[in-house]
Order: sequence, then structure tokens, then C-alpha cells
Amino acid sequence: MSSQWDLAIEIVTTLRQAGHIALFAGGCVRDLLLGKTPKDYDVATSANPEEVQQLFGYRRTKAVGASFGVIMVLPARKKGEPHHKSDQPAIPPVEVATFRKDGLYVDGRRPETVTFSSPEEDAQRRDFTINGMFFDPLTETVHDFVGGQIDLQSRQLRAIGIAADRFKEDKLRLLRAVRFNSILDFSIEFETWRAIQDLAPEICVVSHERIAAELRRMLAHPSRHSSIQTLDHAGLTAAIFGQTLSATSPELLLALKALKTDHFETAMALWLRELPVETLRNICSQLRLSNQERDSIVWLHTMQSAWQEFSHWPVCRQKRLLAHPLISELIASGQALVSAQLLESRHVDAAIERLQSWSKEEIDPPLQVTGEDLIHWGISPGPQFKQILEQLRDGQLAGRLCSREAAHQWLVDENYLPRT
Ligand code: ATP
Ligand code: MG
Repeated sequence: MSSQWDLAIEIVTTLRQAGHIALFAGGCVRDLLLGKTPKDYDVATSANPEEVQQLFGYRRTKAVGASFGVIMVLPARKKGEPHHKSDQPAIPPVEVATFRKDGLYVDGRRPETVTFSSPEEDAQRRDFTINGMFFDPLTETVHDFVGGQIDLQSRQLRAIGIAADRFKEDKLRLLRAVRFNSILDFSIEFETWRAIQDLAPEICVVSHERIAAELRRMLAHPSRHSSIQTLDHAGLTAAIFGQTLSATSPELLLALKALKTDHFETAMALWLRELPVETLRNICSQLRLSNQERDSIVWLHTMQSAWQEFSHWPVCRQKRLLAHPLISELIASGQALVSAQLLESRHVDAAIERLQSWSKEEIDPPLQVTGEDLIHWGISPGPQFKQILEQLRDGQLAGRLCSREAAHQWLVDENYLPRT
């Protein structure tokens, strides 16, 4: 077995041999019909969760969402074989979900109860027609109870059933709609769009983590400008960020369109470039982004204005910037701003030229003098310590303090060390 496709086929075959209905379901069917490689394969079956676990064995299965009837099935392992060979990527487990009908939604996110049911009813609980189809990989037939194929052909995103009801049930679907619409470059069907606009203010009942997860996927994709424009038009930007942000300028949308990276933080820093850095920090913590994400966003946001002066900076400062791990992201956002005529190209060009002409060793040489050396020479750790090391590094980058002797002499000249 070498791929998740093989695993999904094995699962469908085994379930069918045991007398159950088993079909590919949801997003993977959509992607297969669009000729795209699905991100993952989901299987829907008439077998109940216990039957799935018995059939594949308890060692190969995990009841991740047992109350919703979801069991993860892992690839089979021969005795004594490790989980996966280290030279090959691991095959992700396949989610096997029992056909179900959702009960009442109470908290704007999840149904209170579910009952196991038929493929027809299972299709009705899914979000959009293009996500509501099943596919039999053994006979290569599509089972479409919701008109998904027609909408795929006419490239329309349409909620299954009454749009307003579907978004009221689960408000995360508001963001999923924007994401699918932009990533697939579809249009949004009229009633679906009206419901999204009406219900946008209710996005705040969705957890910040889930909102952030959707934003990550939208902003990491080249269609991010379209997602952002749709979020703005729907009133979702304002609902997520409050008064701080509600509309993105046409120039900035152009820059976001021109941005060539799949780095979420870079897109986020560019999108929010006009906000003060403190507001940006608040947004990052409100969305529960990781500290690393927040630091990267803040750094990229702060540095975006640095381009205005780059070619006038002293060499050591230029080298410090070029040695930063996010420099290629910063350059990508600089180039995007240039394409949108929000920045003159000469400073970004100068940075790229320096990056190409200086070797890695020149930009980020190993330190001549370390903290241990300073202690050894008699400087005790204290408030000055970091500052001294920074100055020594700057001196080294500028080509002045390139030997330990020169560094020692500089410490004496600056009165950090006594003359001997
Ligand atoms: P992708 O994995 O590319 O994001 P997907 O459509 O496969 O897209 P998943 O989140 O993997 O999305 O969900 C699989 C399927 O489960 C969806 O296609 C849809 O049928 C259903 N689904 C997922 N989330 C919801 C939801 N919030 N409301 C209704 N149905 C949903
Ligand atoms: Mg999926």
C-alpha cells in the first residue's frame, strides 16, 4: 500500500465484502470530479462504528468522533513492522463515517444528537451541493442526491437545502463558503450569498481557533485576494475584526493578488499592514495564533516599511536584515507592494541584489566573540551584555571587528575592559 487512495480502496472493498454500503464522500468526490488530487479521502458507510472497528480490528482503528459515527482507519501493518518506514511519508488514516442524519443544532456549531441513516439523508446534512456527493470507486459511479454535478459544471457554490437554515445551524459554514468559493474560483449562488451576508455578524459564535484555521487556509492560497474581498463584501471581515478593519483597499487587494508565497504570516502581515502594531498584536492573541506566528507577523509588519530606506542603511544593518530567517518572505511582500505601486522598486531591488552578491558567510558569519569570551575577559553578565555582543556583531558585519584581537581592542577602547 503506497497511498491514501489505496487505503481508501481497501476500506471500501472490505466493507462491501462484509455486505455494507461504502462510498467515497464529500470533498474528495468534488476534487476527483474536478480532476484535482484530493487532500484526503473520506469514506461513508452503512456499517455502524462498532462494525467498522470489528471489521478492521481495534489496533487499526481509532474512535475519534464516535458520537458522530466517525472512526479513523489506519493502514494495515505486518507483524513487527514499524508504523511507517522512515524513508517514506506516512499514509494518513482514512475517516470512515456512518451515514447519518443530524439532530437539532443548538450552539451554532454542532448538532445535539445524530442518528445513523441512509446515503440520501447523509447528503442532506452536508454543507454545499458540490461537497454533498458520493462516489463508488469500484464501479466509478457518482451518487448525487443534491444536484452537486450540475453546480460543479456551472461552477456555483450552493448550500444544500434552505441556505439561511444551513448557516444558522453551523456558522463555520460561512467561512467554508468563502474558502471554497475563492479556492475553486466559483461564484456563489444568489440565496446562498444573501444568507451569508445576513448571518455574517454571527460568525463570532465560532471559536477563535476555528476562525484562525479557516483564515490560515484562505490566506495561504494564491486566491487570498478573492477570499479577502468576499470576506469584506459579506461583512465577515468587520464581524471578525470589529471596528479595526472592515474593507481592504483596491491597491492592497492587488498586492495580495501579486504576493507569491504560501506563507500565512506574510499574507496576514500584508493584509493588516495599515493597522498599528499594537492592534495587530491584539488580533493575533484574539485569534489564539501561536507565539511564533504572532512574532513572524509582527516582524514582517514592522519591516515592511523598512524598504523605504534599505539602500541608505549601513552595511551591518543591511546584513542583519538579510540574515533574518524570514527575509525571503519580506522580499516577497516587498515585491507584491511594488507590483501594486505601493512601493518604489529600487530599495527592494537593492536588497535582492545584495542578497545575490554577498555570500551567506558574508551576511551571517560565525561570531568571532561569544558571551563566554566576554565573561572570560572579565565582563560580567548584566544589562549591557547583550548590547555589547550586538555591537561586536555589527562591527564584524561591517568588516571592522573581524578578528578576536580587534574585538578585544575595541572593548578596551570603549572602556568595557581596562587597559593593561
Ligand atoms: P478540504 O478537505 O479540501 O478542506 P472538504 O470538503 O473535504 O474540503 P472537510 O472539512 O474535509 O472538507 O470535510 C469533508 C466533508 O464533510 C465536506 O465535503 C462536507 O461534505 C462535510 N462537512 C465538513 N464540514 C462540514 C460542516 N461544517 N457542515 C456540513 N458539512 C460539513
Ligand atoms: Mg477533506
